[in-house]
Amino acid sequence: MRPELTEAQLLSVWETGDGQAPPARALLLAAAAAAPGEAVADLTLADLNALLLDLREGSFGAALPCAADCPNCDEPLEVSVTTDELRAPGRRNVPGPRRDPATLLAEGYEVTYRALTGGDLLSVDPASPEARRTLLSRCVVDTTPAADDLPEGVLETVAQRLADLDPGADTVVPLTCPYCRHAWTAALDVADYLWAEVEGYARRLLHEVHTLASVYGWSESEVLAVSPARRRFYLAATAV
Ligand SMILES: [Zn+2]
Repeated sequence: MRPELTEAQLLSVWETGDGQAPPARALLLAAAAAAPGEAVADLTLADLNALLLDLREGSFGAALPCAADCPNCDEPLEVSVTTDELRAPGRRNVPGPRRDPATLLAEGYEVTYRALTGGDLLSVDPASPEARRTLLSRCVVDTTPAADDLPEGVLETVAQRLADLDPGADTVVPLTCPYCRHAWTAALDVADYLWAEVEGYARRLLHEVHTLASVYGWSESEVLAVSPARRRFYLAATAV
């Protein structure tokens, strides 16, 4: 069964994450979907995405409407992708343990490296000029010979291998323009997408609370205890 955000969880996640940076929001959402006590900050980015896709499907369904402009002819497109299309092969539905580290040889170094985690993203200031280097350095578990400061070229080799170590860390949507047939892939950040939906839902819900509390004199918790279907009825009744 897919994890699902209750309205109470959704409001709480939104309230806590409002104003926070995207990695913090992604981890808040993941924590709402994870097993109790699971360290979501240690999940690789692909596992984090897998968990968030499950949460998205359980909470809002499998279809994700997207809007994009064709980079060739500028026509605005509206497409719908499914959570299955965004899931990395072999990873459906199962956030697993952190991927095993791998080893590569570059510029005379033997480098053991691991996949990036949400916790790594959270710990780095994206505005810092050193952000990329810091992130890549965090992936390096061990080197032979030992080195505190690896050459740029070695870290770039690590960067190129990360996608193979953690397929699904980047989610992309293949698109074809119906007007000019141009084909391209667009990145879709699952956490950002889900956050925008959570934010929209939370704001609509609070407006509903405001309206129903004003009209009927109910408290916030009384309004939230009313099912969404009944709330729609009462809201329609207030509009008559
Ligand atoms: Zn086009």
